[in-house]
Amino acid sequence: MAGKAALSKIRNIGIIAHIDAGKTTVTERVLYYTGRIHRMGEVHDGQATMDWMEQEQERGITITSAATQFSWAGSTVQLIDTPGHVDFTIEVERSLRVLDGAIVIFCAVGGVQPQSETVWHQADRYGVPRMAFINKMDRVGADFFGAVDQMRKKLGAKPVLLQLPLGAEENHTGVVDLIAMKGLVWQADDLGMTFEEVPIPDELSEEALRYREELIEAVVETDDDLTEKYLSGETLTEEEICSAIRKATLAMDVVPVLCGSGLRNKGIQPLLDAVVRYLPSPLDVPPISGIDPDSFEIVTRSPTDSDPMCAIVFKIRMDEGRRLTYVRVYSGKLKAEGPIYISTTKAKERVARIFEMHANQRKRIKEAHAGAIVGVVGLKSVRTGDTICDEAHPIVLEPIDAYEPVMSVAIEPRTTGDQEKLLFLLDKLVSEDPTFRYRLDDESGQTIISGMGELHLEVLVDRLLREFNLQANVGRPQVVYRETIAREVEAEGIFDREISGKTHYGRVRLHLEPLKRNAGFTYRVALPPEPPVPEEFMTAIEEGVQESLLGGIVAGYPIIDIGATLIEATVRENESSEIAFKVAASLAFTEGCTKGGGVLLEPVMEVEVTVPEEYASAVIGDIGSRRGKVVNVNPRRAITLIKALIPLSEMFGYSTDLRSASKGRGTFTMQFSYYDEAPARK
Ligand code: GDP
Ligand code: MG
Repeated sequence: MAGKAALSKIRNIGIIAHIDAGKTTVTERVLYYTGRIHRMGEVHDGQATMDWMEQEQERGITITSAATQFSWAGSTVQLIDTPGHVDFTIEVERSLRVLDGAIVIFCAVGGVQPQSETVWHQADRYGVPRMAFINKMDRVGADFFGAVDQMRKKLGAKPVLLQLPLGAEENHTGVVDLIAMKGLVWQADDLGMTFEEVPIPDELSEEALRYREELIEAVVETDDDLTEKYLSGETLTEEEICSAIRKATLAMDVVPVLCGSGLRNKGIQPLLDAVVRYLPSPLDVPPISGIDPDSFEIVTRSPTDSDPMCAIVFKIRMDEGRRLTYVRVYSGKLKAEGPIYISTTKAKERVARIFEMHANQRKRIKEAHAGAIVGVVGLKSVRTGDTICDEAHPIVLEPIDAYEPVMSVAIEPRTTGDQEKLLFLLDKLVSEDPTFRYRLDDESGQTIISGMGELHLEVLVDRLLREFNLQANVGRPQVVYRETIAREVEAEGIFDREISGKTHYGRVRLHLEPLKRNAGFTYRVALPPEPPVPEEFMTAIEEGVQESLLGGIVAGYPIIDIGATLIEATVRENESSEIAFKVAASLAFTEGCTKGGGVLLEPVMEVEVTVPEEYASAVIGDIGSRRGKVVNVNPRRAITLIKALIPLSEMFGYSTDLRSASKGRGTFTMQFSYYDEAPARK
């Protein structure tokens, strides 16, 4: 296994699409025709295999990426499910990192909808070659050429048609294959398992010839010999055309376009053929590079068994009470029951078992080779984005960005029993999702959970309440602020109390200063050399300061951008204790923050808006009215890309506003950028 020949037969791909374009429906067909499932589930019945989490089924949307594997035409396709909603950007990013290619599904009626623009640009950023499937050709208003035209205009893509639809709306029966020049029709009553080849209908033959010429012209450019042959009027073989399409697709010069109807079971098998023919194998992507953590030199690994093992962790989820770690192997062999080194944290662990994944089922294997995407059980300390590798040949691959949770919601369980259950469940959710955090608010007794956005929190809360049957009251989503101080101060804290007959004494003096925005926290010691302060008291003081950072004096948000220096510590023989110093430090710190004038900091988001040119000025004006700053305006063909920094508190409801300001054409992504001083609260 995993020789060149075997690797060339692997396809790691994802299906990406706007919500409702038909990704789940198409995936169900793919799994059915490839024998991975034996009954076809439908989204509207809540039965689809890849949407296996309860809320996904109920909402009919796909949230977490599950991986699944199937065989087609002698190749092994590993399909990574990607979510379509902006709030789940991290999930999309994680998937794009480990994908080699993608199918983008568009709706023949809706065309290039906003979310597909967003995901398309993300895939551009990650250099993922793609092809398009124009789905829902059976729907009233289906417009194949309109959708293709939108790909050109809205996405700036260069679509090349490999097929034409045979009929549309209720007359949609199949496709015309422009390479083999024949029609394919699905008529049998067998859920689309079989189809027939038919001659191209007369009324389409001229159009078919024309589009075939267009296709060939668009792709022969990749190859000088072919160009010459074509220009001299010779006929190209099917094989030559396919290999030219493959080259142009891998180079991201063109996007092959196919069509059909997922729901009516038409066009899926040719789509699978195209995945195998035109999308990259792990050999077609450049060798992965990373940093040697010892020498800090850049090192690369090729997708072969003989290179040292390296893999990236792109997802962790709890599965039947155990941690299941999803990894993509880039080089070498990952062995069951073998040792691994986590180069990002310098920890050593042992793999227990390795599984090939099929949505929520799996098949145990002994080892995974380069190019494989597998689930691993037995790893306890790994986190999403960690590199695992051979200890003798350490490498750190570029990590997957983590995002700052910027929105929170309060949860109040109804009973003590529910409170205990809640904490247990939250721990479980945190290990699955690094963008999710929680804390207990001492004053209100509430549990505050924070995440990436409104929908993210909604889905999490929903899981808690329904999947885990928790009884709780849930507050409204709030922006997560930070705090800092306005000026330099010195402050003192003294703890002097008798506890169970013993005096505890500690006195601490701190110097506090505001730091530059996003400098974080620094702690220094500048005590006079005499008298010496015992090490354990020093540690206690630092702990006291660290703990005080968790909740500030303005509104209890974490304190950042502050420098603390310990300048005095008074020890009394037989009376001083660690606890006394810890409390004294925390008193001094809080006193200092009060004197220093608390400042509230708000999260500012980096927002990227993509809109048709004619709406750009309206969008820019609106950004101004949200206290936003436009950083960059980049007109690209008919669309304009606007980058801006906007406070998160001004972004509630932005998707609705943007949609109405741009007749539904504008899309945006946002991600946390930095904390800045918030205007005085109204
Ligand atoms: P996803 O959000 O991209 O996963 O889309 P789904 O697969 O959940 O499909 C969204 C809705 O569109 C469902 O009600 C499907 O039954 C319907 N649908 C999907 N494919 C087709 C199609 O080819 N034709 C028609 N008419 N409806 C479709
Ligand atoms: Mg779906």
